[in-house]
Amino acid sequence: MTKIRTRIAPSPTGFLHLGTARTALYSWAFARHHGGEFVLRIEDTDVARSTGESVQQILDAMHWLGLDYDEGPVFQMHRLARYHDVAERLIAAGAAYRCWCTPQELDAMREVQRARGEKTRYDGRWRPAPGKVLPAPPAGVQPVVRFANPPGGEVRWNDLVKGPIAISNEEIDDLIILRPAPPGSEGDAAAFGVPTYNFAVVVDDMDMRITHVYRGDEHINNTPWQINLWRAIAASGGGGGAELPQYGHCPIILGEDGLKLSKRRGAVSVMAYQEAGYLPEAMLNYLARLGWSHGDDELFSREQMVQWFDGSHLARSPAQWDPAKLAWVNAHYLKQADDARLATLLAAEFARRGVPGTGDAALLARAAALFKDRCSTVVEIADWVAMLFVAVQPSAEDVAAHVTEAVRPGLRMLREKLASLSGWDKAAIAQAMKETLAAHRLKMPQLAPAVRVLVCGRAQTPSIDAVLALFPRDTVLRRLAAA
Ligand code: GLU
Repeated sequence: MTKIRTRIAPSPTGFLHLGTARTALYSWAFARHHGGEFVLRIEDTDVARSTGESVQQILDAMHWLGLDYDEGPVFQMHRLARYHDVAERLIAAGAAYRCWCTPQELDAMREVQRARGEKTRYDGRWRPAPGKVLPAPPAGVQPVVRFANPPGGEVRWNDLVKGPIAISNEEIDDLIILRPAPPGSEGDAAAFGVPTYNFAVVVDDMDMRITHVYRGDEHINNTPWQINLWRAIAASGGGGGAELPQYGHCPIILGEDGLKLSKRRGAVSVMAYQEAGYLPEAMLNYLARLGWSHGDDELFSREQMVQWFDGSHLARSPAQWDPAKLAWVNAHYLKQADDARLATLLAAEFARRGVPGTGDAALLARAAALFKDRCSTVVEIADWVAMLFVAVQPSAEDVAAHVTEAVRPGLRMLREKLASLSGWDKAAIAQAMKETLAAHRLKMPQLAPAVRVLVCGRAQTPSIDAVLALFPRDTVLRRLAAA
């Protein structure tokens, strides 16, 4: 049986987009489910827009999500000789040809077509045909290579997500497969030229023996080209016997407003969610459900997903990004997260914020344990825990409402008792509060909010004795002295 091989092929022209992360996840889970292999390919042939920084961001995001790959990263710009070789084969087989049209000529061609109300397309002027006399190649123009798309008939495939699709070859242009490298290029690019997306993708999927391609449905219109190219390369003997992969096109992700999720409407980069305090397992769980289902299951582990993901139950219609649901999923995983791990994440968040004095990992772990149940993100936990390290500013309303004349004497006594405690822990603090309440005939709902407002800067917190025990004692005494 053929080994299942999938890939994700991001272009390093920006961050790893949520949509790409989702198809990466599906490709990864499908390969893992079948005991197959998953490949990372960097499609860096858009020389002007590809950057090393973006490659790094993609690698970081894959690593963060735990989408491990068996091969790669493979860089297309390292494979230029191979694309050139395949293009030459296609030319020799009559399935591709050189075209010397200048950009100006192509513009003029489209202009005429538009004026006639026709669809703009390459008019085939350099495409060889029996009995056709081609113009003499102009001097000083570097030709591109175009694929001679088969005339007539249609391209069909059974899409893994959308079902049967058929597109008429009449709709399909003779696309450029290889361009001369931009002026000033050196090395392989200068020698071999640079392939276009549709061409490189086919040669690579072939050479990498990819069996299943999951990608965004913005690529549906590219698939007929790719299938035709694939067949032509195979016929030319350049495909090494690889079989056409199966294609699955996942619908786009919509933003909350029902429009395509885009930068302008909130974060679309995976790593922005890391910074916002989401856990990778929550991200994976949420992304997986966004376009795929397993019964009514909403929460599942990476292992369960691998066990369940056989390529069925992929949604045909677009899913909507739902920040509230993502927060809910993240809150679930935060509750389960190990406190030592949360301590590390908190330390990183405080480092980002430039909060000093946060190096006590054991303290951060205790704090995380106390606050994680009421938070949706690590950033929210950090917002709580920050009160241990930076001055708090209670609102005037909270002070007026809670730090009243009736409580002040109690606050003074509590401060004295806390100052003279022999040990600084939750039980001792609770005892000091109890004694204070009795001595001043106060109730806990009077004393506790006043202490919270002064020490924590807000009137509600988890159990006050546990919260106070997290602080250095002198911080508590100093803040209580402000009463
Ligand atoms: N580089 C393409 C993209 O990022 C890959 C598409 C594909 O998977 O074929 O959209």
